[in-house]
Amino acid sequence: MNDSGIALTDQNVRPAKVLIDSFGRHVDYIRLSVTDRCDFRCVYCMTEEMTFLPRAQVLTLEELHLIAQAFTELGVRKIRLTGGEPMVRNNVMSLIECLGQLPGLKELLLTTNGAQLDKYAGPLRQAGVNRINISLDSLDAERFRRISRTGRLEHVLAGVEAARRQNFDRIRINAVLMKGYNDDEVLPLTEYALARDLDIAFIEEMPLGNASDHDRENTVCSNEWVRSVITEKYGLAPIGDRTAGPSRYYQIPGRRSRIGFISPVSHNFCGDCNRVRVTVEGRLLLCLGNEHSVDLRAVLREQNGGIEELKQAIIGAMSLKPERHFFYEKDHVQPVRLMNMTGG
Ligand code: SAM
Ligand code: SF4
Repeated sequence: MNDSGIALTDQNVRPAKVLIDSFGRHVDYIRLSVTDRCDFRCVYCMTEEMTFLPRAQVLTLEELHLIAQAFTELGVRKIRLTGGEPMVRNNVMSLIECLGQLPGLKELLLTTNGAQLDKYAGPLRQAGVNRINISLDSLDAERFRRISRTGRLEHVLAGVEAARRQNFDRIRINAVLMKGYNDDEVLPLTEYALARDLDIAFIEEMPLGNASDHDRENTVCSNEWVRSVITEKYGLAPIGDRTAGPSRYYQIPGRRSRIGFISPVSHNFCGDCNRVRVTVEGRLLLCLGNEHSVDLRAVLREQNGGIEELKQAIIGAMSLKPERHFFYEKDHVQPVRLMNMTGG
């Protein structure tokens, strides 16, 4: 033990499993939102007219770095950068370069809409990003426009090709399927990924905030159905090594791509949840589907704290992590946050 009661490992004086919640789950993964802004307005994520946060409320790049450092000093090994669209944040590459050098960090991951990867795939790889997720909901230009409201399919496809040239450990396509929008693209999207040896994950639409264009209970496509469509054509075998979290992976015999199903709605993945989120306002969110949180920005700005105070606040927050989410359960108050505010 050290002065602050943190258990230290023998070999490298790094904390061992400091972040354990009340249900015995070990948190070693954070999703860090670097902006709430985006150049797209995807129908499941944002409303058409968005008001973004005033700059003063948003963490500075230095604050984001300090928070990431605090987590890695507490044993976090994996950081995913998300948003909003991470690549629209001014100077985001300088932050990513610093994060890539954090001692103890094993994996630096990025989730992006891919629109700027044509330019940034190389610098991201050089900065130490290991894996990249690229959102792609349709291969039809007009439909892509309808779903993203402002995006251009050709930019994203060029971004995917630029990423493929950079030797990332893995590239995964993320697709949110919605009845009436793109539910007939299960096979075309799968074939796109297979042809390029990319992974693909189908994500069930989550009820975060009110989407303006549709009633979500009518558009959710269950992953069970998506899986049956792919199985019918190709056959699917589950992959043994399950990662903690909401993804379940399968493979088509003889193909390299992994096919994932992220099912927060129809399956409860909370039992092995190993992650927390930090919003760009510095709110440490203990669960995607609940409001339990701790204000890390206040620790830095109002309490004038530094890295040690951040670490104590993070350790203290672990007792707030709820056992599970309650999406679509009657009589439970659903979160009013949209995904761009949550850090998807
Ligand atoms: N802008 C980046 C992107 O689109 O990949 C990163 C942020 S985005 C919020 C992260 C992921 O969340 C995307 O794959 C997106 O499809 C997904 N997403 C957004 N809103 C969602 C919702 N309501 N339900 C399920 N997935 C959602
Ligand atoms: Fe932007 Fe990503 Fe949300 Fe689409 S899903 S609006 S790209 S943050």
